Amino acid sequence: IVDRGQPEQAVITTCAYCGVGCSFRAEVKGEEVVRMVPHKDGKANHGHSCVKGRFAWGYATHPDRITTPMIRRSIDEPWQEVSWEEAIRYTADEFRRIQAERGRDSVGALTSSRCTNEETYLVQKLVRTAFGNNNVDTCARVCHSPTGYGLKATLGESAGTQDFDSVHQADVIFVIGANPTDAHPVFGSVMKQRLRAGAKLIVADPRTIDLVRSPHIEAAHHLKLKPGTNVALLNALAHVIVTEGLVDEAFVAARCEPDSFAQWREFVSRPDNSPERLSGELGIPAGELRAAARLYATGGNAAIYYGLGVTEHSQGSTTVMAIANLAMATGNLGRPGVGVNPLRGQNNVQGSCDMGSFPHELPGYRHVSDTATRQLFEQEWGVTLDPEPGLRVPNMLDAALAGQFHGLYLQGEDPVQSDPNTQHVQAALKAMQCVVVQDLFLNETAKYAHVFLPGASFLEKDGTFTNAERRISRVRRVMRPRAGKADWEVTVALAEALGYPMPYAHPSDIMDEIARLTPTFTGVSYARIDELGSIQWPCNASAPEGTPIMHGEQFVRGLGRFMLTAYVPTEERTSRKRPLLLTTGRILSQYNVGAQTRRTGNVHWHAEDRLEIHPSDAENRGIHDDDWVAITSRSGETTLRALVTERVQPGVVYTTFHHPESGANVITTDNSDWATNCPEYKVTSVEVVKVMQP
Ligand code: SF4
Repeated sequence: IVDRGQPEQAVITTCAYCGVGCSFRAEVKGEEVVRMVPHKDGKANHGHSCVKGRFAWGYATHPDRITTPMIRRSIDEPWQEVSWEEAIRYTADEFRRIQAERGRDSVGALTSSRCTNEETYLVQKLVRTAFGNNNVDTCARVCHSPTGYGLKATLGESAGTQDFDSVHQADVIFVIGANPTDAHPVFGSVMKQRLRAGAKLIVADPRTIDLVRSPHIEAAHHLKLKPGTNVALLNALAHVIVTEGLVDEAFVAARCEPDSFAQWREFVSRPDNSPERLSGELGIPAGELRAAARLYATGGNAAIYYGLGVTEHSQGSTTVMAIANLAMATGNLGRPGVGVNPLRGQNNVQGSCDMGSFPHELPGYRHVSDTATRQLFEQEWGVTLDPEPGLRVPNMLDAALAGQFHGLYLQGEDPVQSDPNTQHVQAALKAMQCVVVQDLFLNETAKYAHVFLPGASFLEKDGTFTNAERRISRVRRVMRPRAGKADWEVTVALAEALGYPMPYAHPSDIMDEIARLTPTFTGVSYARIDELGSIQWPCNASAPEGTPIMHGEQFVRGLGRFMLTAYVPTEERTSRKRPLLLTTGRILSQYNVGAQTRRTGNVHWHAEDRLEIHPSDAENRGIHDDDWVAITSRSGETTLRALVTERVQPGVVYTTFHHPESGANVITTDNSDWATNCPEYKVTSVEVVKVMQP
């Protein structure tokens, strides 16, 4: 424990880790944080926090921070430190040269859900104005893009329906493909409180997560399905609800499209969707499926919470739609204690999507092909916008390998470590002429970069984050940017060097512009957030205080739309060569690729990634606890130490992906969601063999 002395002042800010968005008092002495104290008035956390938010902020002053811009003409050359002016000028000249030689669409940008709303807004504006195309994407592509697609198609808005506090009024909590106690710990604790108070729990997960069985909590049903079968599971539950007369007919008649409901009712009623028919595919007894469906439909207020175990599949968008179908059919929407609640992984996944960081959507989820929307932005921005959607990240990488894409600006992203099929990502980056990485550290992607622009940590910036319940909270500067510039200032400088001035004096000016252009944000300003503490969008004339629960009287799209959700098995099937299915997740003390949590100066954070394997599979292979094992997929091979445990079912192995050396994404494949290209991280067929220590 380091004694940092007594604080001189406190600044209220927001945690930079998960989508719970806890509020903290950063107690500061001079330019140094003395401690982070959970803020008792924080509406997302009510004075609680987890270990990451409270203790894992030391990375902001870690010696690995790069604080001087650097350039190199080739990735084989050493980096050269340069001034900000030179780095920005070099980047602008390279992007202009590439566009002149290879065409307007040969460059693009990737923003991060780690950045503020204002920063991601500026990056998409940079692309659409200074680059003149729509080649902008966000890391939500690889996590919750199916949420945006599926919820917009069914309910009309690409966001979760409830506030976190709503869980206190839930009678049944259905957790599917999420591990809240590890990945969203503060909300996981709130959920546990409600479960201890008597709410019933259904968990659908291939692995026995802590929530299934913990002190005073026992799931009524743990549907331990095989990886990749979510849609079959939800169709089986829907079949029971429809065929046993458990539909909330009054709700459906008043709130949903009659034709789409009729088609869906006929579809899910088919014998192919019955629990008895799907039991083998799922690995769950039909009786258990029937009982779980009855509990969800008749147990009172039923709320669904889901995570990346839903979205990161080849049918991720279909699964989100199947969840929304289930909630509509049972009337579990539009009031406290119910709803469809995506648990967002990163702090600002919701925000980066809201801000138009997608190649097909302008801020506020409005399609670039919509003339009226384009005209609104064209008037404000003074340019003509491209009506054609741009490239998604996987398309940018493919285009690079095809010799058609040459310049990429990455703000706060490390796709070499975080995206699937590492070798493919590396090859695509190598094929580009100018890769610009803006980050705190020389990350794995920086090995393939020509320009490095130092980033600012959350303690060095002003702005806003939007959490999983659509809550916009302020991020307030605690210390000066170590490299002399905040991230938004870097984007502004780049835009100016490209001939498109962006005259903002402060991030609040950027939010004012967002509010002018986005109907769900018209009531949002820094002054209003300061007054209310935080605001859940939509916030406008109809909802001046914000909106804790959406779809109250009617759905955002008017009538709810049932979508047909045919189950299409993943192409990633087991075989004699690769008989096991690998799935992935996180642990409490680490965060995503670990760039921050591995730099906290506290040894227990360094808990290694292990391969969980069932005792029967381990015995068949002569594997014991702590043995080194090689895991081989059709993409590649990596080596980890084994953890023999009944948490995983026979035939399934599991690991986390927090350390670059674990190489989890060396073995994941390039299968992806049919609608959004979200990678299928959760299902990879593998073989595991014991090896000598590497
Ligand atoms: Fe930060 Fe999430 Fe932990 Fe809250 S629960 S302190 S937002 S990591």
